[in-house]
Amino acid sequence: MGNHSNEFSSFAETISSLGTLTKLESAVSTAIKTSRVPPKETRKLLKCMNIQEAGNTALFQFMRDLFSKVGVGELEIVRNDIFRFDFAIENSPVCKLYPHVKGKKTCYITAESLSQFFSKDLGLPGTVEEIACCNAGDKRCEFAVSLQPLAVYQLALDDVDKSIIESIMDGKNSKQMADAFDMSEDEALFRMNVLKRYKILSDSYELTEIGETYHKYGEGMGSTEEDFQAPWKDMARISGAISAATSFAEAFTETADEEPLWDVKEKDIVNLAEEAKKSKSFAELLSKQVKSDMEE
Ligand SMILES: [Zn+2]
Repeated sequence: MGNHSNEFSSFAETISSLGTLTKLESAVSTAIKTSRVPPKETRKLLKCMNIQEAGNTALFQFMRDLFSKVGVGELEIVRNDIFRFDFAIENSPVCKLYPHVKGKKTCYITAESLSQFFSKDLGLPGTVEEIACCNAGDKRCEFAVSLQPLAVYQLALDDVDKSIIESIMDGKNSKQMADAFDMSEDEALFRMNVLKRYKILSDSYELTEIGETYHKYGEGMGSTEEDFQAPWKDMARISGAISAATSFAEAFTETADEEPLWDVKEKDIVNLAEEAKKSKSFAELLSKQVKSDMEE
């Protein structure tokens, strides 16, 4: 096979990938717009002690459905530290959009979707990095979500937690707290363990330096919190909106998809990429990749 035919098939695939990426991008932006999660649900996820608990939350199950509907694959939660969540995707459909890439991570769109979901739908800004990728030779794709600690503290601890911090400063034990807050001693202990995990309390349940700082400056944090219906109560509406956005994007890319392969010219690809560059960030990344492929 000559050089030319190799490039040729790569260009044809690029056009099809560009169309798929445009559809994915529309699906993602629609999914994010329709999926704001009430703070009390996000708090449940933040208070999980391990990945099994986190995986069982309504929020994570919704998130897995949402990302699967959008088309980036099946999310699995593989790490939950207080400021960091890692997700894995086996057989990522996004990886398959880059059949010629070897030794490079490619799933920007998945990383960006996670970043948008955490910041816009959960109110937890942070950064997302793809730390392993099938296209880079790894077993599966993995994404590390690093959250802004202040935002996490604001959301994770509620008014009862704040009262518990005060009781601990007053030297009360878990039994006295349970009585004072009308909860079981188990719940009081559970809450104290969450505070321990967040470094507010030491191993011996004493207030740490972080705890003191939080108590001093954390007053008023998240005191007036919004409450609204969880997005998973209306999954049909979200699915409908995602399908509509995808069909709409499809109509726009139909021309490119239907282009017979033998009519595809290098110049056209570059023009298409140039056009896409003006408005589509993921398409832009793809177009850069096309150019670097051409230079090789
Ligand atoms: Zn990947």
